[in-house]
Amino acid sequence: MLESFDEPIPITRPLLPNLQNVNKRMSEIWDSKWVTNNGQQQRDLQEKLKDYLAVEHLSLFTNGTMALLLGLKSLNLTGEVITTPFTFPATLQALDWNGLTPVFCDIEPNTLTIDSSKIEALITEKTSAILGVHVFGNPCDVLKIQEIADRHGLKVIYDGAHAFGSEIKGNPVGHYGDMTMFSFHATKLFNTVEGGALVFKDRRLAAKLNLLKNFGIADQEEVVLSGLNAKMNEIQAAIGLETLKLIDEEREKRHTVKKVYERQLANVPGIRLLTHLENKKSSYQYFVIEIDERTFGRTRDWLQEKLQQHNVFARKYFYPLCSDFTWYKHLVSAQPRNLPQAQKTVKEVLAMPYYGELELASVVRICNIIKSHHVTTSGIAL
Ligand SMILES: *Cc1c(COP(=O)(O)O)cnc(C)c1O
Repeated sequence: MLESFDEPIPITRPLLPNLQNVNKRMSEIWDSKWVTNNGQQQRDLQEKLKDYLAVEHLSLFTNGTMALLLGLKSLNLTGEVITTPFTFPATLQALDWNGLTPVFCDIEPNTLTIDSSKIEALITEKTSAILGVHVFGNPCDVLKIQEIADRHGLKVIYDGAHAFGSEIKGNPVGHYGDMTMFSFHATKLFNTVEGGALVFKDRRLAAKLNLLKNFGIADQEEVVLSGLNAKMNEIQAAIGLETLKLIDEEREKRHTVKKVYERQLANVPGIRLLTHLENKKSSYQYFVIEIDERTFGRTRDWLQEKLQQHNVFARKYFYPLCSDFTWYKHLVSAQPRNLPQAQKTVKEVLAMPYYGELELASVVRICNIIKSHHVTTSGIAL
């Protein structure tokens, strides 16, 4: 019988910067009396992130959801947007708040991103864009998606919340599409507690995004468009500047954790590893496995419950499928029969505890729990 962990093992832990360094920055902010609205920390973070992500144009926001919502708004999209049901609710809600109708496209079984071979059949004269998600840092089929978009005159937007610092085919992830959103929520690899950014191709969008995140206020005399309040404040930015210093080391630690998981789970029948990126430029955002009930002998939900009994907190992620939200029930594209792969995947994925400080011995113990509950087809527990 395997022992439970004395302390709960969470799914993730926020990467927290050195508190003394943060305090030094807080003093700077207090002395300046400038706490938000395009302050020095925010401008510094913007420049540092442009370098880190190797992009020309970047705009900071109070969180990733507002970044995506206002990014979509800045592109003047109308009608329908083809997207994936296998994502976090925010992706869809950013469309909803722009009055855009999602058209759900099934996902591809290897990367769990939008299936590029199924996009074209969903295009109508109302379609204005394709919104893909780099799921768990696994990149979308960016070249094919761009080819389709070019052929039909569509914009391409990526939810890159899981893909901070990733590369695709040797290029920074932000080089693909018209726009990519990053989330800096505490659970993400790089965080500003809450926060987010857009990187974009068209330099003219910079001024528009500045207006959109500050009520559309052009100057003391004029409000020129209907914006919102979505600015990143100085305290968020200061924490980001300090967290950014830790990112490369955190990536390396997560790489080691990932290797132990991979070794331990390599030959367990019915367990497939879903995080494919390998090199130092991977996002290392999540470590996700897929449980095939037929070969593993147990369901994903059963395994999640078992792990929890041992004080290990894995998460069904993403769950539920966005196309199953009640307010999409009337959409043809949301019907389960049209999304067979997504409907299957959502029942099989499990995000495992994953953070740099996770002890390697704990990873081995977690994997032993999984292995001990694997049941052979003859029904005998190994
Ligand atoms: C975290 C996340 C978001 C939301 O970002 P916030 O910064 O929390 O608003 C959106 N999409 C995906 C895929 C995410 O994982």
